[in-house]
Amino acid sequence: MSFNDIKKIADNSLMNTYGRFPLCAASGKGARLIDTDGREYIDFASGIGVNSLGFCDDEWADAVSAQAHRLNHVSNLYYSDVNVELADKLTRLTGFSRVFFANGGGETNEGAIKLARKYSFDKYGAGRHTIITLRNSFHGRTVTTLSATGQDVFHNFFFPFTEGFKYTPANDIDALRAAVDKTVCAIMIEVVQGEGGVNPLSPEFTAEVFKIARENDILVIADEVQTGIARTGKLLASEYLPEKPDVVTLAKGLGGGLPIGAMLCGEHLKDVLGPGTHATTFGGNPIVSAGALVVLSRVSKPGFLNEVLKKGDYIREKIAAMNNPHLTATRGLGLMIGIKVEGMSHKELCAKLIDAGLLALTAGGDTLRLLPPLTISYEDIDAGLEIIKKVLGQIK
Ligand SMILES: *Cc1c(COP(=O)(O)O)cnc(C)c1O
Repeated sequence: MSFNDIKKIADNSLMNTYGRFPLCAASGKGARLIDTDGREYIDFASGIGVNSLGFCDDEWADAVSAQAHRLNHVSNLYYSDVNVELADKLTRLTGFSRVFFANGGGETNEGAIKLARKYSFDKYGAGRHTIITLRNSFHGRTVTTLSATGQDVFHNFFFPFTEGFKYTPANDIDALRAAVDKTVCAIMIEVVQGEGGVNPLSPEFTAEVFKIARENDILVIADEVQTGIARTGKLLASEYLPEKPDVVTLAKGLGGGLPIGAMLCGEHLKDVLGPGTHATTFGGNPIVSAGALVVLSRVSKPGFLNEVLKKGDYIREKIAAMNNPHLTATRGLGLMIGIKVEGMSHKELCAKLIDAGLLALTAGGDTLRLLPPLTISYEDIDAGLEIIKKVLGQIK
């Protein structure tokens, strides 16, 4: 079927919720994707930070298909060995006490919001429910996580939104202090704002977040849906923070291409959500767990994180060396890279890159966002950078 035929069927069957690029994916291996017309693309996007081991990694695909033949699903009313193994491995590797598995980022963040509110409710009673989030944050698309998202463009149409969120600018200590009152139970941050433009938080600011939180028994929730699982060169980006958050949420890169979310919490929070207070039908599904186990075993191999850092530095240096006036300040950590685009919109640039055979992403503030698979080879990195250089060279 030609792309145009596929598009016609899509237009008549899918809800029109995405501004899609004209590409229909057919297959992929590593950092290379083939479309239904047989064209090849270098992948600097990983889905959106999802395919941490690239497309169809052999070990991952074998584990997932073996699990599909062994046990596809059991309800969370029973245990599954592969899910328990994942819980054990994830808590050991991260140093957190307990984990709750969900199916994606927004849903996992909902769980974190519930946990924070219940922690406070149990201890202090009603009224201490406010969660402070940051301007330009992104926490999901459910009605509550849209509320949590500190961007006005997301606060339309779907009224009434969930109450109890307050927004404060990232890296503004005075504003944060001013936002704290006796109704606050949690502060929710991304260690590096992803959708908002690949903006890391300053060490001074995060130090203050923890100071205020500890002084007031306010929980710190790190939304690591995008930054987690080695993306930034540490297993969790919150290892860059001055203290351990109370709660960390994970999703995108954890399953290596299968839908999973994980909420991690410290020992002091392990009993906040008891039987009947939180649940999901699919969360921690055996097949998804088998995929996540392969991801964890790979990213925890000696030298893996260092390689992520080295590749990130390599890309940043090569981009700086292009000396192209359209690409200025490069931000981010590890293989989470944001490049400020000037003189043309990031959307236009992304479209041109796809035309030239490279998948990249946009983020807020006219940022070109690169989230290559963590396992990408230097050869594929060079091929992708060559495309960026070529496309930029054609822009007047
Ligand atoms: C993608 C993302 C989400 C939402 O995840 P979904 O799986 O799309 O629900 C939440 N928070 C952050 C930081 C994200 O990057």
